[in-house]
Amino acid sequence: MQKKSLREVAVSGQRVLVRSDLNVPLKGGVITDDTRIRASLPTVRQILDGGGGVVLMSHLGRPKGQVAPAFSLAPVAARLSELLGQDVPLHTDFHQVTDVPVGGVCLLENVRFHPGETANDPAFASALAAWGDLFVNDAFGSSHRAHASVVGVADHLEAVAGALVEKELVAFSGILAAPARPFVAILGGAKVSDKILVIENLLERVDALLIGGGMAYTFLAARGEAIGASKLDADKVEYAASLLAKAAASGVRVLLPTDHVVADRFAEDAERRVVASIPDQWMALDIGPETSAAYRAEVSAAGTVLWNGPMGVFELSPFAAGTRDICEACAESPATTVIGGGDSAAAVNVFGLAARMSHISTGGGASLELLEGKPLPGIAALADA
Ligand code: ADP
Ligand code: MG
Repeated sequence: MQKKSLREVAVSGQRVLVRSDLNVPLKGGVITDDTRIRASLPTVRQILDGGGGVVLMSHLGRPKGQVAPAFSLAPVAARLSELLGQDVPLHTDFHQVTDVPVGGVCLLENVRFHPGETANDPAFASALAAWGDLFVNDAFGSSHRAHASVVGVADHLEAVAGALVEKELVAFSGILAAPARPFVAILGGAKVSDKILVIENLLERVDALLIGGGMAYTFLAARGEAIGASKLDADKVEYAASLLAKAAASGVRVLLPTDHVVADRFAEDAERRVVASIPDQWMALDIGPETSAAYRAEVSAAGTVLWNGPMGVFELSPFAAGTRDICEACAESPATTVIGGGDSAAAVNVFGLAARMSHISTGGGASLELLEGKPLPGIAALADA
């Protein structure tokens, strides 16, 4: 992942075309969370300080290749103007290339208004590239997509990593290439099938794998344990058994939950019990306190912790304790702690512990693909360092 960064190029007098992730949540045209806009500012400021002009582009939602006013970036342009303290015009016509002066910032309208974006159409990529002298990819969360504004433009312009992308690459290449040991991965979330390639890739790298969340019950079933009405990927039980055998053969310790918070139905006000073995008809919606304690001990003794996937249905407060415990353990651990996955990052934010993690990935899908060991098209397209 040795890619050239914005820090290594001269931007003075250049028009810099920047792909950011400005895909913010909107409600009735009002931005409900501007975190992504704020996160894009360090790269913008870096270019302005270096004497360049900035042309920003991003997608917003899924307008499916058509102009749809509900997905306009107009509210984002307005918010950018406020945060930067200067006018940020929104350009709606890609073909009307408008020069951005040194010190200026402008924004192109939602790239997904054009069908050429997701198709990575060369003509569309070339029209976008005409806006800049240099291309910066700062949209890590879109880097697993071979779209025109992420990959196609790099055929026309020198392409480098922005500050956000660089931070993600440093964090992930650090833990995947040379992790401080012991390297402990905690995997949870909804389904085994979503994370199979992640588990396979990590089994070759970690010292211990702690499994929780919905995927744990397929592994417990593979060990022949009763799982009641808990989540099960029925067609992955054999596969889970083979992964456990593979882990044992390669000396990777795998920890599965030894106790559970079970409920009589999937609801906030369900009847709840802590059990060591799951009764018929009951579903496990969180790891139990004994499991939490064992996992916490692993996290405190680790050199590197990678966490992806909540330990339980943390969206419902009666089943949030396991996820909160792991969050706290990560926050308190002296280890390098990297959090990947959209819901796991959301959990860390809900519990107010974001500032105490070494790195929280901004890209759910992109971080999973990195953890699977796949090259991301938007990163592969960047110039080598
Ligand atoms: P991430 O986005 O961090 O990669 P996932 O999308 O894989 O995580 O999984 C998150 C979802 O998994 C959450 O919505 C959570 O409610 C669900 N989940 C966690 N534990 C369980 C469980 N025991 N049963 C059912 N769903 C669960
Ligand atoms: Mg998710």
